[in-house]
Order: sequence, then structure tokens, then C-alpha cells
Amino acid sequence: MPRILDGAAIAAQIRQEVAAEVAALAARGIRPGLAAVLVGHVAASEIYVRNKVKTCEELGIYSEMLTPPESVTTDEMLALVADLNRREEIDGILLQLPLPPQVDSKRLLDAILPEKDVDGFHPVNAGRLQAGRPALAPCTPAGVIEILKRSGIPIAGARAVVVGRSDIVGKPVAMLLLHENATVTLCHSKTRDLASITREADILVAAIGRAGFLTAEMVRPGATIIDVGINRITDRAEFERFFAGDARREETFARRGAVLVGDVDPHAFALAGAYTPVPGGVGPLTIAMLMANTVKAARLRRGL
Ligand code: NDP
Repeated sequence: MPRILDGAAIAAQIRQEVAAEVAALAARGIRPGLAAVLVGHVAASEIYVRNKVKTCEELGIYSEMLTPPESVTTDEMLALVADLNRREEIDGILLQLPLPPQVDSKRLLDAILPEKDVDGFHPVNAGRLQAGRPALAPCTPAGVIEILKRSGIPIAGARAVVVGRSDIVGKPVAMLLLHENATVTLCHSKTRDLASITREADILVAAIGRAGFLTAEMVRPGATIIDVGINRITDRAEFERFFAGDARREETFARRGAVLVGDVDPHAFALAGAYTPVPGGVGPLTIAMLMANTVKAARLRRGL
């Protein structure tokens, strides 16, 4: 039987450690602070940001939510970021993406002080990560490493294959695995004969954004599968393809008209030595690592 890597439990453990660090900093008169900027009313983004702010409150981190209107301009957003950069009580600035089309997202992300860039998206932090210097690493990739380490999955010397090369997931995951001494192959949509590469993986990371894309034939028996993908499926035929006979999901689908599936076909998990489920695998780590990054930023900025 494959081992299920319980992301929710690992995230809870990290939140506890962060809360302890926050308490230790409080004893020195320091309270880490996070500013979350949410533009407009994208339902999913609102849920994400509210969860982030709520988690801050639970852990004793100061937080505030800024909500500029949908019609905001790049210049107005630049002014807002400049203000947050200046404010002493703010250690982390989080810009919830996507931003409306009239706003230049890249310019804004580049305007955040690298020391306050708790999402780890600033080119300076990407460069520091590559150079192996202490950096604020992107939260989801950092979460992937935490899952592997805390589950006792050996990384050093392992053959790791990452499918997906985005700046926010695939590339930084590959870089972090490399720093942990895995032998890393990074695949993408132009990769030839993808299956022959994924079948060599001891650790297979899927960050593609396509429901159930990696199938059982693409997995080496016994491999550890880390499924970063989050895809919502509403189509009955697609549901049947992945989850026929799964009574619990059947009930969810009937009730909500949708279920989540990762980038790995759930049938492939039976072959794995260990895997992260969707939901409840990588997802919960993202907010936990954001909290960890906020505390890290507070310490680094004060030279602690
Ligand atoms: P992007 O769309 O930015 O990147 C997708 C990557 O997959 C690209 O590099 C693309 O290749 C590659 N790809 C697409 N099709 C294929 C294919 N047929 N074969 C091989 N590679 C392919 O997605 P993200 O990195 O932002 O997100 C990936 C997934 O992770 C999504 O499902 C997203 O929802 C999820 N996610 C989950 C998070 C969490 O908290 N758990 C956080 C962030 C993302 P190319 O570069 O050649 O186009």
C-alpha cells in the first residue's frame, strides 16, 4: 500500500513552530507583520487572502488586508507598494495574483523590497535562491521540500523529475531539490518522450495545471509522487474517468457539482511508494510556508 503524505498534518506542525518563534520574538518586543493586497473581487483570491489573514491572527502575526478597487492603476499600486516598503511594522508584502489586466504585475512584483517579498517572486530572491544564499523561497516549492524532509523521503542522490517550469512552482522546486543534492530533470511542454523521463523518477513532482495528466504508465513503481496541481472538474465523464467507484468523491460531486483533482491521474497513486493527495497534500503547506517566510523576513530584516 502506498503511503499517503499528509500535508495538513505537516502544515499544522509548521504552524506550531512558527507560533513558537513569534512568541520568542514577542519577548524581544518584535511582532512580525504581513500586508496582503487584494485587488477587486475574484472569489478564489478572496478566500485565499482571508485564509492567510486568519492564519496570521491564529499565530500572533500582525496582518492587514488592503483592498484597492478593480479599476486601480499601475501608478496607484506602485504608490501603495512604496508605502508598504517604507512602513517599519510590515515585514512581508503579499500581492494576490492575478491582478486586473490594466495593472503591470511584473513592475509591481519588482517594486516590492526583496527583504519583504514573502512570496519569493522578486528576481533578487530568485537569484539568491539559485546562488544558494539565504533567501525567501517561494512558498509552494518550499512546502514541497518540507513534505519530503519531514516524511523522511531521501532526497540526496535521488533522481528527481519535475514536470512544469513556471517561475512560481516548477523552476524553484527544481532548484531547491538540486540544493538538497537530488539529480534533477526539469520537463515542460516541449519535452520529447516525457514518459521515458518520468519513469526514471524516484521523486516525481507534477506542476502542470492539467487534470490527471500524468498517468500510471508514466510512473516508476515505488516512486514518491508530489502532486502540486489543483484542478476543478465539473464534467461527469471526466469525473468518471478519475473517480468511478469512489463513494466519498461521488457524494462531493453530487453535492457541489465539482471535485478537485491534481495533475496526476489518481489511478497512478496505487503504484507509488508515497504520494501527496489532492486536496490535503501540497495545498496546506503554501499558507504555512508564507507564515514561516513572514517570520524569517522579520528576523533577516533585523539581522537576527
Ligand atoms: P503554469 O501554467 O504557470 O505552468 C505550467 C507548466 O506546465 C509549464 O511549464 C508548461 O510548460 C508545463 N506543461 C503544460 N503542458 C504540458 C505538457 N503537455 N507536458 C509537459 N509539461 C507541460 O502553472 P503553475 O506552475 O502556476 O501551476 C501548476 C499547477 O500547480 C496548477 O495546477 C496550479 O493550480 C497548481 N498550483 C498549486 C499551488 C498550491 O498551493 N498547491 C500553488 C501554485 C500552483 P511550458 O513552460 O513549456 O509551457
